[in-house]
Amino acid sequence: MIEILALSGGIGGAKLALGLDRTLPPGALAVVCNTGDDFQHLGFAISPDIDTVIYTLAGIANKETGWGRANETWTFMAALADLGGESWFQLGDADLALHVERTRRLALGETLSAITDVIRRRLEIGSEVIPMSDQPVRTRVQTSEGILPFQHYFVKRRCRPAVRGFEFDGVDMAQPAPRFAELLTGDRLKAVIICPSNPFISIDPILALPGLRQALRNNGAPVVAISPVINGKAVKGPTAKMMVELGLPVTTASIARHYGELIDVLVVDHSDDTELPATGAQILRTATLMHSDADKLALAAEILACVETLQN
Ligand code: GDP
Repeated sequence: MIEILALSGGIGGAKLALGLDRTLPPGALAVVCNTGDDFQHLGFAISPDIDTVIYTLAGIANKETGWGRANETWTFMAALADLGGESWFQLGDADLALHVERTRRLALGETLSAITDVIRRRLEIGSEVIPMSDQPVRTRVQTSEGILPFQHYFVKRRCRPAVRGFEFDGVDMAQPAPRFAELLTGDRLKAVIICPSNPFISIDPILALPGLRQALRNNGAPVVAISPVINGKAVKGPTAKMMVELGLPVTTASIARHYGELIDVLVVDHSDDTELPATGAQILRTATLMHSDADKLALAAEILACVETLQN
């Protein structure tokens, strides 16, 4: 039975998801993935955050890049570049199989949820992996160069344009995926864990789904968020650059304010001495920097021990 529901983006989220997956009993974890980064490319349906979580939990992720598969080959990409094709978004040969299979099944009318579930079972992942929605939601970035589709901003333009804000195209018409909704409307979960993912582009699209915040409140589970900012720096990626461009101090305090009353516990790195605003959230101080698998397991164990103290 699912006890813990984790909300995740890609790289930062998948690291904690791995720790939780390896620490909890089999079948106790469900990871809901952001699909705002999804896009159509070269005719394929690509879901970068789902793929990062799946590859990580299956133990086949490329640990250097954080995305894609380990031991990948690049024959397809090189051949495509030789033909003058679009080569700004890297698709490894083995990775390609996942996009081909997802696209084939979507064309047959299967839902993204059903397809993701088939794939995670094939890769022998014990935890459930759930897209946030089966309807398309597409993040668009308001920038100094106009509105850009997410992957154009993120990969093609390497996050260079200054960010002014975000739009989640289609979110008003989207619904939480059926299994996601079922888990929130069912018995009280032990906790909802907001992974140390980018709050603006990985977690906010999930929270923007109609009725989602109310469903979280109705479930009654404590909400635990792990700050992706440690001592004024984001561990990886454009989170810090975005915060500066949005006029926010790059501090854990900004993360606390961003999630506000939604969260019951904020997990902060023990080296982070930023003063935190009084949002009502309890603070758990522990090592949140995850380099090794041991770090991921240790953080998961700390969070789960804290969650146990919150049960009443
Ligand atoms: P993306 O979708 O691939 O960009 O990945 P996420 O949104 O899931 O993760 C990006 C965020 O993860 C960045 O804001 C990083 O600061 C954060 N992050 C990455 N590794 C760690 C880590 O080991 N500890 C913490 N606390 N945050 C991390």
